[in-house]
Amino acid sequence: MLGQMMNQPLLISSQIRHAARYHADGEIVSVETAGGVHRTNWGEVERRARRLGSALQGLGLEHSDRVATLAWNNHRHLEIYFGVSGAGLVCHTINPRLFPEQLVYIFNHAEDKVLFIDKTFLPLIEALQDKLPKLEHVYLLSGKDDEAAAKVPGLKFYEDLIEQGNEDFEWPEFDENTASSLCYTSGTTGNPKGALYSHRSTVLHSMAVALPDSLALTARDCLLPVVPMFHVNAWGIPYAAAMVGAKVVLPGPGLDGDSLKNLINGEEVTCAAGVPTLWQGLIGALKKANEKVPSLTRTVIGGSACPPSMIATFRDDYGVDTLHAWGMTEMSPVGSVSTLLHKHMALSPEEQAAIRAKQGRPPFGVDLMIGDEDGNEKPMDGDTQGDLYAKGHWVISEYFNVDTPAPHKQGWFPTGDIATLDPNGILTIKDRSKDVIKSGGEWISSVELENIAMGMDQVADAAVIAAKHAKWDERPLLIVVKAEGQDPSEQDVLAGFEGQVASWQVPDAVVFVDALPRNATGKVLKNKLRDEYENHLLD
Ligand code: ADP
Repeated sequence: MLGQMMNQPLLISSQIRHAARYHADGEIVSVETAGGVHRTNWGEVERRARRLGSALQGLGLEHSDRVATLAWNNHRHLEIYFGVSGAGLVCHTINPRLFPEQLVYIFNHAEDKVLFIDKTFLPLIEALQDKLPKLEHVYLLSGKDDEAAAKVPGLKFYEDLIEQGNEDFEWPEFDENTASSLCYTSGTTGNPKGALYSHRSTVLHSMAVALPDSLALTARDCLLPVVPMFHVNAWGIPYAAAMVGAKVVLPGPGLDGDSLKNLINGEEVTCAAGVPTLWQGLIGALKKANEKVPSLTRTVIGGSACPPSMIATFRDDYGVDTLHAWGMTEMSPVGSVSTLLHKHMALSPEEQAAIRAKQGRPPFGVDLMIGDEDGNEKPMDGDTQGDLYAKGHWVISEYFNVDTPAPHKQGWFPTGDIATLDPNGILTIKDRSKDVIKSGGEWISSVELENIAMGMDQVADAAVIAAKHAKWDERPLLIVVKAEGQDPSEQDVLAGFEGQVASWQVPDAVVFVDALPRNATGKVLKNKLRDEYENHLLD
């Protein structure tokens, strides 16, 4: 016997329709690329998204054609998220910080037909346009701009396109498994690979992101996604925000500490999300100005391990809770968020903090497993380390348009991380498998050593890599950026590890540098550091 309930496809258009119907005056604040702030609301975002959807169909695009963006977090990018996917096209957000060769590869591999571009990135397209034969239309995200038109032949303007569109356009209905958006992994080796999300996976992921033990998103929140909309769909926050009707502040190009501080305090932001390096900037700006962030209740930090010292600073100095989250492009991205269980409520604040510093538990819809390299499960005992595998409604089954078979083992997606899971499924990421230090048969977690170094007052930034060693094969080498006005010696820094880890895990040496190399999503480029310093202990 079948159930007798309505069967409605899970479509992204239903999220924006809900926002417009029940939260029409819910505010959207957008810092513009040209400067200044634009204020709009969910009702207007939907009206313009409808116009966009109908105008794109008018260009003769076919179902599932790819429409690319090179854009900051702003209201037009938000309209594109809903207008493009809602009309049955695929919204392909591209990371402008990638190398030009990677950008050319991605455009041509995705076969993007339309590109929406912020003025900041015009020089990129000026340089690459000849190499993008499939691209038919380039729209600048603004009204008419003669200076820009002179630079890029055939350039058109987004506001003209919106003008041509029909506000009464009806969102089409189609299979919920239809592709909705496309993101490429930044890929430190080889070509970037595409993760192609569906309407169904996106809507289910949004629901999970909003849950109380995830980001606890509500209509009373004011959300600041600092994480770019070109980085795994800003962690799904734009979709989840529409679903719950939250106020949204889109920060535009200025992501420095002062700009963030002023936005948070000016707009009374309650929840802000981004990678750890961004928050170093905010904390620095708050300290300098001797200001607080009274409206902010929580920051969501993920993308790389959040140093426990950062969680403590937010909590003790600013009364802000940190939600430590783990995920990846192939997982839409949310795989786990760190919140406590009922039984933890009796623990001391220190014990609770130690749990909160881990990567947390998977929400319903994601399964995690620790296994060997063939995908055979290992114990969930909190101690046994192994390869981390994932399964779920928003986990990748195949990469977009490649010949190579999916890397899955026994139906599980291998994340490339080394981790432990405790009996409650609380995840601790030890390392990326390629970054772990294999010292004489024992594994040393680079993340753990980095967290300790980052907790030292004299250290601004730190990375640990595996350096070649004559006796132990590999030993940890610590690369440090000194904090402003501090001048620690190698001995000072190494003394900070005493009593924090077993003595055989303490790094062998310290190299001081001015800055760490980072990739397009703000992660430390450890392969670059390895190229430069892996022989440091042999020399
Ligand atoms: P890429 O794989 O291209 O670097 P992703 O943004 O998909 O880009 O990165 C996913 C990886 O980032 C994870 O596999 C993990 O190694 C790391 N990561 C993400 N969040 C965390 C976290 N909270 N703690 C530790 N590592 C994290």
